[in-house]
Amino acid sequence: MMSTWGCCQSAFAAFSKAAAKAASARLRNMGVVRLAHNWSARAEICERCPLRVLHANVSYCGRPFLRLIDRDPTIDGCGCPTRDKAKSPDEHCPLDTHHEAGARR
Ligand code: SF4
Repeated sequence: MMSTWGCCQSAFAAFSKAAAKAASARLRNMGVVRLAHNWSARAEICERCPLRVLHANVSYCGRPFLRLIDRDPTIDGCGCPTRDKAKSPDEHCPLDTHHEAGARR
């Protein structure tokens, strides 16, 4: 029972985080919040990444979040659209240069 509750809590936290990211991306696309100054270079790196998944003509860091909610970002990617991710100064790659877990989470 406890592990089921723990799973629901982590799924709820993941949904909340994804919703907040989507809202931020919308504000960024409306020009309300700032873009990362090097976002196009960041987006290009994602286009060459083996974790990148193309879904409905949109690049994602791994499978889209709603298609794989319980995930390990170092293996599955984070599920965010890579272009939105690259535009956010607060976002980071889940991998480091050795394809291991990045320092920031
Ligand atoms: S954020 Fe990192 S892991 Fe995700 S697609 Fe871009 S380069 Fe790959």
